[in-house]
Amino acid sequence: MGIAEDTVIRMSEGDGTFPDPLDRALSESNRSIELRKRDRERKLIQKIRKAIQRTEDGSYGICEVCGEEITESRLEVRPETTLCISCKEEQEVVEKQFGL
Ligand SMILES: [Zn+2]
Repeated sequence: MGIAEDTVIRMSEGDGTFPDPLDRALSESNRSIELRKRDRERKLIQKIRKAIQRTEDGSYGICEVCGEEITESRLEVRPETTLCISCKEEQEVVEKQFGL
């Protein structure tokens, strides 16, 4: 989103009136994008918090499913992960099968 657009949205949110129905629709769709973004961020923060907790109790870097150590290169890319690469791949296959 451009800075100008962002500013317009912020300004238009001030009084809550939308004389143009198109403006209103645009504002609502932007809001839902923003909500989805916030939801994703919140989930990521939860994962990171969990990861920090795991470093404290010593279970960080251990796969939740099989108990094997997660490779360092994987942790570098996805520090919040709780699954080793093979368990993650298995999970993804299952998710795809069930259309999750
Ligand atoms: Zn595993």
